[in-house]
Amino acid sequence: VTDSRFVIQVVLPTPAHSRLPEVLSYRHTQALPLGTLVRVPLGARELLGLVWRAPAGITAADCDADSDVASAALDLKPIAAVLDVAPLTVAWCKLMAFAASYYQRYVGELVMAALPPQLRELDAVQMNRMLTKRHKKRQKSEADAAPAPATAGSDATPRALAHRSEQTQAASLVRLSSEQTLVLAELAKPDSRPILLFGATGSGKTEVYLRRVEAVLASNSAAQALVLVPEINLTPQLEARFQARIEAQFGAGSVVLMHSGMTPAQRLASWLSAHSGEARLVLGTRLAVLASMPHLALMIVDEEHDPSYKSQDGSRYSARDLAVYRAGVDGAQVILGSATPSIETWHNAAVPVSSAEAIGAAKSGRYRRVDMPTRISSAAMPKVRLLDMRLQKKASLLGGSIAPALLEAIEQRIVRGEQSLLFLNRRGYAPVLHCSACEWKSDCPHCSAHQVFHKLDRRLRCHHCSLVSPVPRQCPLCGNLDIGTQGRGTEQLEESIVQALERNLGGANTARVLRIDADSAKGKGRLEAQLASVHAGDVDVLVGTQMVTKGHDFRRITLVAAINPDSALFAADFRAPERLFSLLMQAAGRAGRDVAVSAQAEMWLQTHHPTHPLFKALQNHDYPAFAQSQLAERQGAMMPPFSYQALMRCEAKTQEAAQAFLDHAAALVHSEAVFEPWRDPQISGFVTLYPAVPMPMQRVANIERAQMLVESASRAALQKMLAAWQPYLRELKVASIYRWALDVDPLSI
Ligand code: ADP
Ligand code: ZN
Ligand code: ZN
Repeated sequence: VTDSRFVIQVVLPTPAHSRLPEVLSYRHTQALPLGTLVRVPLGARELLGLVWRAPAGITAADCDADSDVASAALDLKPIAAVLDVAPLTVAWCKLMAFAASYYQRYVGELVMAALPPQLRELDAVQMNRMLTKRHKKRQKSEADAAPAPATAGSDATPRALAHRSEQTQAASLVRLSSEQTLVLAELAKPDSRPILLFGATGSGKTEVYLRRVEAVLASNSAAQALVLVPEINLTPQLEARFQARIEAQFGAGSVVLMHSGMTPAQRLASWLSAHSGEARLVLGTRLAVLASMPHLALMIVDEEHDPSYKSQDGSRYSARDLAVYRAGVDGAQVILGSATPSIETWHNAAVPVSSAEAIGAAKSGRYRRVDMPTRISSAAMPKVRLLDMRLQKKASLLGGSIAPALLEAIEQRIVRGEQSLLFLNRRGYAPVLHCSACEWKSDCPHCSAHQVFHKLDRRLRCHHCSLVSPVPRQCPLCGNLDIGTQGRGTEQLEESIVQALERNLGGANTARVLRIDADSAKGKGRLEAQLASVHAGDVDVLVGTQMVTKGHDFRRITLVAAINPDSALFAADFRAPERLFSLLMQAAGRAGRDVAVSAQAEMWLQTHHPTHPLFKALQNHDYPAFAQSQLAERQGAMMPPFSYQALMRCEAKTQEAAQAFLDHAAALVHSEAVFEPWRDPQISGFVTLYPAVPMPMQRVANIERAQMLVESASRAALQKMLAAWQPYLRELKVASIYRWALDVDPLSI
């Protein structure tokens, strides 16, 4: 061991609260390049580590051998093993370094989110055994598949060529619309800016994605592409389509999936395949943005506005924003697609305006906007009808929630063999049980929330802590037998519509009603089966939560109804209107997707506020007008994207303790004697700390939660302040708190 003289810096993929230093030193017999995966001892354990250098200013030179040779190395523990896997690239390490600094995390925490769990768990022996097996399997399948020497890259084998001609035939069945052709020409232009593909629902964005992926992969035999989607199990169709098309052209195994629903073994296999360059296309959810892809040339973020791209725990990164950053490092193209872009993205893609306008004007035009306004075959957008619920007699409402005119419209669809979709964002039968004699409500004992009444299995369920209890026969407080429900959920909506249709259509030819929500979809393959039955036409009326409004290419839906969209109109969160608009517009987008039925396609909104501007913009399918009004409002109030936010959250046994921690953290900032950065007017003049308050959901599973907003008109000032704050916060010892975490660019406040 006397020649283990090389000092190797290593980060460990561990959570932030593990209280280890960010970078640890070990010794080894030779220098190791940045990004090498190693196993290192830590106490009694052996852990996975990543060879690292100071995150600031990683350069290509860091790839070269580390030449630090120190006599002090002898005091260090030796590296236990070097994994037989190619080192991660410099570009990938830069992505980790950037994400860690932007989201105020240790590099190791980002690395942990990026690497498949099994890579951490297998020891060096198990890992090498697995790699050897994998290697043999690959050699065998290559030998089986390709006896002829591949001269012009692996895709020139006879098999691949045969596939390709099949493919050309298959592809020629879909003739691109002239708009799709124009858009693809735009995407092919050499312009390194991120692209916003602003395409109407049903405009054929998926086909554009496919063609763009095909073009990029064909342009270079090593090129890789990454396609991100919000939730993969919601769109099994999409997965199948990408797999069929890309594998037909680029060979079996050229497409891999990456999402949290896969088994650890599957995730490791996908990761290795992408890392080795074997996989040409990775299709995944937000975590896939951190995948190792050494030849990344194209990234597509489908439905870029979707909140699921922002991780809600751990490092709390935004996969969309990291994709934009990553494109810069890798020299890859990035396409953000949506019919209802996030306000931030829309702002970034705004056509440059005259300098007198908008504070944000300097930034406008950072993204290139490419429009796809027309539906395939020029199918019409559904007609949006506002049903004024103020004019409805309460007694006439079916099951208390469906207006008679809406029922009639549904019945017409059934007679014509078309489908309807009823959308209500509340699962269960009723959100709360209550006693008419006293004040009792079915509150969850552990959360600041009601337990929801589920009638099908007669249970009360808390949707926050998952507590399940039986339905009481009488009021637990006063013994009253008359306890009733308040409000309506999808179970009740389903029940009402089934009863009404049975009554009206009568006996034998009753309508087929299907409910899809998190409850109905529980169990492996259930959701896929349910969606398939809708596609197959085995369903007349689909009742569901927002699960059914996203992305699906339902062909025979001609009526979409939002049963109670008002509840989100006056929510406190400044992003609530944006979310509601996009939800309703996406829901509307499920109607009339086939030109054969698009003329009778309608979206109905049952509302008490029929003159609300949000609904008016929806009626005109006018996202730009809506976005503009939102931008004006936010500019007036100095809200994002005109300011930058971070949220400090704290969890503790009591609300007082949680808030005390935050107050303490704030006091620390304001005492210039302790917190030097605050003396810098470039920071203190631009950053505001708001008072600590309870979180909107104050208590979950008996944990009290509080938050404190930190806001700045300058992103740089905010970043500097947060970075300087971190070391102090880590030192801060306040009794009786469970944990704290910083959320940069929070999605809800
Ligand atoms: P979006 O994602 O923009 O809402 P999709 O990509 O789901 O729209 O496309 C809508 C429908 O149009 C799909 O059924 C798709 O197969 C079909 N489609 C797309 N492009 C074409 C085309 N060029 N010719 C015929 N049908 C097409
Ligand atoms: Zn009572
Ligand atoms: Zn609860």
